[in-house]
Amino acid sequence: MRAVVTGGAGFIGSHVCERLLESVCDDVVCVDNFITGEPANIARLTGRAGFRLLVSDVVDGLEIDGPVDAVLHFASPASPADYLRHPLATLRVGAEGTRHALELAAAHGARFVLASTSEAYGDPQVHPQPESYWGNVNPVGPRSCYDEAKRYAEALTMAYRRSLGVDAGIVRIFNTFGPRMRPGDGRVVPNLIRQALEEAPMTVTGDGSQTRSLCYVDDLVDGVLRMLGASISGPVNLGNPHEVTMLELAHWIRRLTGSRSAIVQVPLPEDDPRRRRPDIALAAAELGWQPRTPVEEGLLRTIEWFAERRKGAGVLAEV
Ligand code: NAD
Ligand code: UDP
Repeated sequence: MRAVVTGGAGFIGSHVCERLLESVCDDVVCVDNFITGEPANIARLTGRAGFRLLVSDVVDGLEIDGPVDAVLHFASPASPADYLRHPLATLRVGAEGTRHALELAAAHGARFVLASTSEAYGDPQVHPQPESYWGNVNPVGPRSCYDEAKRYAEALTMAYRRSLGVDAGIVRIFNTFGPRMRPGDGRVVPNLIRQALEEAPMTVTGDGSQTRSLCYVDDLVDGVLRMLGASISGPVNLGNPHEVTMLELAHWIRRLTGSRSAIVQVPLPEDDPRRRRPDIALAAAELGWQPRTPVEEGLLRTIEWFAERRKGAGVLAEV
């Protein structure tokens, strides 16, 4: 099998490339323009037989020589700090980038998997969130460049499936964490770990009572590969239902790192969702999937990776 992974040099995409080569693929083409990804994420793969890196912006087009059996479309800024810095690039990759990835799948008769997001539910009024919930998104707020781009990408994916018969599926990914998150990407897990390791103030937004449900990256990738091997359209939620408040998370990370950092309150960003937890009954029924890594174990592995990186670089860069 030969797969094309857009955004393959990013946090999740690099793990996807690696797992594909370890399991079902002889060849993986990683397409990335490095807007938020890093060459270091794919350093272990570069030069390895069957792996090819194409430095390219999927907004400009996506042409691949030779056969293509699978297209996994992961290209998009994903951290709020990143997409607020790049709102137009985020809208373009969700719209034109997704169209190009779907065209590639259509031309080759390939299976297509879209990396969508729990942000499709916005600030949810239904809890936990099943796939049947249509969401509560502010279409003109600061986060809309990401949320609406992904909702459009979902609509486009379904239209290609319905009208052109593309074997396309959608996964809605909930907050995922693990090694290779950029320490300065602004998301809560890398921020809190970096701050804890540096004995700097640990920032919790608002009163910290808002919740997220955190999934370790290896489990998430397992779900993505199962979706690749299926032929259903979804959307299917992939996430760990273990829900925590952000204040609890800060205390948890402080304990696991043995840090003496103070936990400080900073302003809550506009339209920050109050709570989020996936209903994963569909993933269990259709894909036989559920997360297996306890959040604490995932946090320990991530902390270890950040500590190693800090040892190497001397400092963990901020946003
Ligand atoms: P990331 O920023 O680490 O990775 C995204 C990758 O896409 C980067 O390598 C970036 O350079 C690349 N990219 C962006 N625009 C591109 C373009 N126009 N052309 C080529 N490459 C481009 O983010 P991530 O956390 O790994 O997220 C990967 C995907 O999963 C995204 O589509 C994101 O929306 C989705 N997702 C992630 C999470 C999460 O918790 N990490 C949650 C929901 C959805
Ligand atoms: N957050 C926080 N401290 C930080 C960064 C983020 O408390 O240093 C909060 C953020 O406001 C949100 C939650 O943590 O309520 C998750 O934020 P993240 O950016 O990781 O993901 P998303 O908002 O996209 O779920």
